[in-house]
Amino acid sequence: MRLIITGGAGFIGSNLILQLRAKYPDYQILNLDKLSYASDLKYLRHLEYDDGYTFKQFDLIDRGSVRQVIRDFKPDGIFHLAAESHVDNSIAGPEPFVMSNVVGTFNILEEFRQFWLDSGRPGDARFLHVSTDEVYGSLGAEGFFTEETCYAPNSPYSASKAGSDFLVRAYYHTYGLDVVTTNCSNNYGPNQHDEKLIPTVIQSALHHKSIPVYGKGDNVRDWLFVEDHCRALDLVFHKGKAGEAYNIGGHNEWKNIELVCEICNILNTIAKDGPDGDYKNLITFVRDRPGHDQRYAIDPTKIETKLGWRNTQNFKEDLKKTVHWYLGKYKQQ
Ligand code: NAD
Repeated sequence: MRLIITGGAGFIGSNLILQLRAKYPDYQILNLDKLSYASDLKYLRHLEYDDGYTFKQFDLIDRGSVRQVIRDFKPDGIFHLAAESHVDNSIAGPEPFVMSNVVGTFNILEEFRQFWLDSGRPGDARFLHVSTDEVYGSLGAEGFFTEETCYAPNSPYSASKAGSDFLVRAYYHTYGLDVVTTNCSNNYGPNQHDEKLIPTVIQSALHHKSIPVYGKGDNVRDWLFVEDHCRALDLVFHKGKAGEAYNIGGHNEWKNIELVCEICNILNTIAKDGPDGDYKNLITFVRDRPGHDQRYAIDPTKIETKLGWRNTQNFKEDLKKTVHWYLGKYKQQ
C-alpha cells in the first residue's frame, strides 16, 4: 500500500505515522506537511533511514504541487490530517483556517479525484478525512454527539472543519469517491504543541507562571489518548464503509478545572517544587474564550459495534505518562 499522510509532522499525524510504520512495515508512507509552528520533525527522527517513509515539505494551498505529488507518488489512499488546529488562533485570525482547512482540503480532494479518474480505476482508493467533534457545537449537561447530530460549529476553527467535512461528503455523493470521515474528541499524549491545554499547564507549572483556566473552568471535554485515536483511524481506513462518518471518543469527560488539578497533583508527586508545596496555587481564572463551547461528549457506539474499536486507555496512567513525556521535553530546553 502507498499512503499519503498530510499533517504528519503535527501532533496526531506524527503519532499515526509511527504507529502505521510499526504495524505495516511493507507500506510506503509519504508525509506531506508545510511545517508550521505546530510541527516538529524531531518526533519522526528515527524514521530518517527508513526506506518505507519519505517526508516532503509541502503546502496544500499550492494546487499545482498537490497535483504533481499525487501523480508522482500514485497513492492507494490518503489520511488527511493537515489543518490549522488551535481555536484561539482561529479567533485571533481566521483566514489561515479557511485557507488550509477548506481550500487545502478541496485541493487534495479534487486532485485525488482527478488522479483516480485518469487512472481508470475510480473508487479503488480511499480518502480518510480526519475531523473533530467540535463541528457539532456545544452540548448541555446531558446527551452525546452521534453521527446524526446536526452540525452547529461556533468558532472559525470548527466552522472551517465543518466546511471541509461537507466537501468530503459531497465528493462521495456527487462523484462516488471512496471517502470516510472521522470526528474525534480532544486528544492528549506526546508531541502536542506547547499552546494546547495540557502542555500549557505543565510548562507554566514548571516555570512557576500562572496556569490560565478559562472562565470558571467548568467547560467539559472528552479526552482520548492519541494512540487510541490513531488505532481508530487505522480501522476506519481499512474497514470503514465508504461515504460514512465515525465518531471517536472514550467516554472520558473532565471539567477543565478538574483536569488541570489532576495534572498539578501528578506534578506535585514528581517535580515537588510547587509554590507552598502545591502547583494548584498557580491556577488563575482568565476571561472566557468567546463562543466557548460548554461541553463535548462523544457516543462511540457506531465505531465500537461496526468496527470493533475500543478505547484501551487507563486515563490516569496515560496522563501520568504524558506528564512525564513533557517534563522530559521541557527539562531538555
Ligand atoms: P497540529 O496542529 O498538531 O498538526 C497539524 C499539522 O498540519 C501541522 O504539522 C501543520 O504544519 C500541518 N498543516 C497545516 N496546514 C497545512 C497546509 N496548508 N499544508 C500542509 N500542512 C499543513 O494538529 P493535530 O492536533 O495533530 O490535529 C490533526 C488533525 O486532527 C486536524 O485535522 C484536527 O482538526 C484533527 N483533530 C484534532 C484533535 C486534537 O485534539 N488535537 C481532535 C480531533 C480532531
